[in-house]
Amino acid sequence: MPKLKIRTYPDPILKKKAAPVTDFGPAAQKLFDDMVETMHVSDGVGLAAPQIGISQQIFIACPTMKFGEEFVMINPVIEEKSGAAAGLEGCLSVPGISAEIIRYTKLTLSFQDRHGKKHNGSFEGFFARVIQHEIDHLNGLLLIDHFSGKKREELLAQYAKVKNPPKL
Ligand SMILES: [Zn+2]
Repeated sequence: MPKLKIRTYPDPILKKKAAPVTDFGPAAQKLFDDMVETMHVSDGVGLAAPQIGISQQIFIACPTMKFGEEFVMINPVIEEKSGAAAGLEGCLSVPGISAEIIRYTKLTLSFQDRHGKKHNGSFEGFFARVIQHEIDHLNGLLLIDHFSGKKREELLAQYAKVKNPPKL
């Protein structure tokens, strides 16, 4: 069972812009550990704090899905970005739905680690995609928000079916 409860659409916290993190004390360390564990038991490659009901600029990324290879990224800012590629994405907060989303293929990111130390790193490919998906969460955006009109309606109809299957 996931350690922390994952909020799903249309929970209003998923629409909020997350606040910067200033506290890196013991309570924050426990939260980071709990997020790492929750991401793994949920079979996720990433998890952002709003998804567990905390509107702060924190996300976990683990493109390899291997225990011990997680990145805890705090107060992230995309400094440079380039390239574009479409790729299929799902989301723990919109379970049962997947959609092709165009993302930058390379980016430079400034962020703080779990102890508040500042870093600057270059990321590409799938890792860059995960980072962009998680930063969307910190800005109150879900994968369905990348679509409008008929495509968005289709995705929401599909989600409604997954969430409320016929009771037989
Ligand atoms: Zn997501």
